[in-house]
Amino acid sequence: MSDATLVPSAGSDADRELVQRELRLGRIDFLNMYPMHWALGIGPTASGVPTDINRAIIAGDIDVACMSSIEYARHADELVLLPSMCVSAEGAVGSIFAISNVPFEDVTDVWVTPQTATSVVLYQLLTRLRGFRPEIHLLEGAPADVLAAGERRAVLLIGDDALAARGAAQLAKFVFTDLGERWLSETGLPMVYAVWAVRREAVERAPEAAAALDRLLVEGVATFGRTEDAVEQAAQHFSIDAHSARAYFDRLHYGFGRDERKGLLRYLRMANEQGFLGVVPQPTYVDVDAPAGDELGAPSPSAVASDPESLRRTYLKTVGSKRALDEVDDEHIELCLDLEADGRARDVDDVLHRALDGQRIDEVDALALLQSSRLMDIGQVAHALRLQKTPADEITFIVDRNINYTNYCSTDCGFCAFYRRPGDEAGGGYLHSAETIIEKVRETVELGGTAALLQGGHNPDLDIEWYEELFRAIKAAHPTFHLHALSPPEIQHISKRSKLSVGDVLARLRDAGMDSLPGGGGEVLVDRVRRVMAPKKTRTDDWLGVMRTAQRMGMSTTASMMYGHVELLAERALHLKAVRDVQDESKGFRSFTSWTFQPGGTPLGKLLEAGAAPYQRHLPPTPTPFTYLLTQAVGRIYLDNLDNVQSSWVTQGLKVGQAALFFGANDMGSIMIEENVVSSAGTTFRATTEDFVHLIGAAGFTPVQRDTLYRTVTTY
Ligand code: SF4
Repeated sequence: MSDATLVPSAGSDADRELVQRELRLGRIDFLNMYPMHWALGIGPTASGVPTDINRAIIAGDIDVACMSSIEYARHADELVLLPSMCVSAEGAVGSIFAISNVPFEDVTDVWVTPQTATSVVLYQLLTRLRGFRPEIHLLEGAPADVLAAGERRAVLLIGDDALAARGAAQLAKFVFTDLGERWLSETGLPMVYAVWAVRREAVERAPEAAAALDRLLVEGVATFGRTEDAVEQAAQHFSIDAHSARAYFDRLHYGFGRDERKGLLRYLRMANEQGFLGVVPQPTYVDVDAPAGDELGAPSPSAVASDPESLRRTYLKTVGSKRALDEVDDEHIELCLDLEADGRARDVDDVLHRALDGQRIDEVDALALLQSSRLMDIGQVAHALRLQKTPADEITFIVDRNINYTNYCSTDCGFCAFYRRPGDEAGGGYLHSAETIIEKVRETVELGGTAALLQGGHNPDLDIEWYEELFRAIKAAHPTFHLHALSPPEIQHISKRSKLSVGDVLARLRDAGMDSLPGGGGEVLVDRVRRVMAPKKTRTDDWLGVMRTAQRMGMSTTASMMYGHVELLAERALHLKAVRDVQDESKGFRSFTSWTFQPGGTPLGKLLEAGAAPYQRHLPPTPTPFTYLLTQAVGRIYLDNLDNVQSSWVTQGLKVGQAALFFGANDMGSIMIEENVVSSAGTTFRATTEDFVHLIGAAGFTPVQRDTLYRTVTTY
């Protein structure tokens, strides 16, 4: 990786200068490191393969580097971690392969390169979990020659060698086992391959530089995924095609969230149990509290501190409320806990039988299902009910694009990694021009897309005229293109900004070309929850009020639920009730989608991780794919007045998205030609029309491309 390929991207020049002046940086010259070094835009003191960099930081020749997880753990006393960034993957990573001439479980001897530390231990943990222990040898010849020279052999390749091996003709006949995929299926957790470590004395000498480094990485990596030039530059430098580079980056996660920390801990514990690690360390983290010199006195969305009390203070500053974390809702919590106790007393079979008989279930029934571990039984009923509601042999999807017209926002939601404070252009803030947006629409149409989900932050500079002009300009260029635009909080923001009623805002925007209103910003429709996670955002009644107004005007809308943060299980059931009650009134929700909170890089994620959220002792465990499928199935069963349930592959990945088709979903949602919000939190799954057609077909259904109003566009 030559320094010429690294151009400063997001982040402030002051941070960059501080880091450059105070810290000696090490760099692993692998493609997976590129987004982070692009984000920094700083030339390193040392570069090389992982073992070189591990050695350099342990010897004190450099101050900071992204280093292998196991080597960090072996020297944790001397090292402090950056709290926001790592290199991980939840499932297949595409650059760590055991390539064998027999199935994975039949290998007796494995050859490894000297470059790797974490992956050799990972391989041995995975083999021991399956009850076998291949003998380790050092790879000296070509992998294909080693594999051809004997039976029951494997070669372990990592990094760019592994990427190259995937396409090498001489290796095509061998079995490729992706260790990331194996790890996920064994543990259900992401695998953290590398962590950012700073030498302890460097943190003590230059704490602000260490914090600035974390900020630069968070801000820059979020920008990388949206910068096509950067991906192409990376591809060119590593001599692979841009599509493969993009697919590779999409598999990698750089946010160091709750699940990544759990994955790292599981890996280190297993390494310790198997004798690869003497002690499981208690990591310490660089304190990256509010950046100095922020004229608004508010920390950036990525700012975190390391102990619960500082975290709480930082969080309160971030969300702009002194009361957001107060435990003042004892009565409501008691009510919720009573509901949960009632739910536990319900007979799940009875609830399922009633639902199958066409009887409406209530919130306590829904809770009984949400508390149950009988995923398959509940899924079967959800699937049976879905077959009654929508064409049994068809699964629909849409080709459209998320256009996030601005990320400037004054609402400071604690769960949001996407926004930038108004004016923070240096930190990656943007407002797209009408020309840029129309160009994105044109590209979408060219790719067979029919619509855009147009959403953005609450930008104080934008009044209703800006939106009207934009919508008119889009419609003038593309009259039949569907604008699924804004969300109840954005409508409320425009109404306040332009001093108009919600009804007037909706009527004027509809006349300008807005076709339907998405259910964004609903999160969990319970005010206690909203006060914690987004105290400045639309309250429950206002959100529902905007929807009621839109639906009475005949506008099509959708509903959603984003859960798995600070809400009790009972509050998920209360959210479903709020949606069903409004749907009873007007039948205006076209579909329902649920997805899990993506904590990567968010203040709320850090708060939860530190156990510092209000009433955290009562919260259900962090959602897993099991929770996701169960919750979707319960949504299908409870929302008996709604036809379409969409799976959320964008947050769960394509495999879970496909499985969700048997848990109540009749729709795979959008192929998402562009997505910025979830990817800002480190979750970056991608798909094409071909992927959808394949996934839906492989599940035994006919793939049908639809438009936003669920009308057929193409049947495959
Ligand atoms: S979720 Fe929306 S309203 Fe909240 S901070 Fe992010 S962009 Fe702003």
